[in-house]
Amino acid sequence: MRNPLKASGPLIIPVRCFTCGKVIADKWEEFKRRFDAGESPKEVLDSLGFQRYCCRRMLISHVELVDELLLYSKVGEEEGLNGGQKDRSNAK
Ligand SMILES: [Zn+2]
Repeated sequence: MRNPLKASGPLIIPVRCFTCGKVIADKWEEFKRRFDAGESPKEVLDSLGFQRYCCRRMLISHVELVDELLLYSKVGEEEGLNGGQKDRSNAK
């Protein structure tokens, strides 16, 4: 069964910096790609124009948990039954 969360791809980086409100989500893919390629986070953040440390921590400290979270999700099984809500009617 198709998982509706999986279809939207990896996201869940906050759209804006929590502290100053700068839009950061549009830079996440490039940051991740370049970091995974071995570039230092400092170089990538500098070249992407992140000067404030509030924004830099948003990208550095972000952990993409959505894929791991989905391993424990019942969304696929309960899709269409309770709108994704867990059925607790027979819970003890
Ligand atoms: Zn910021």
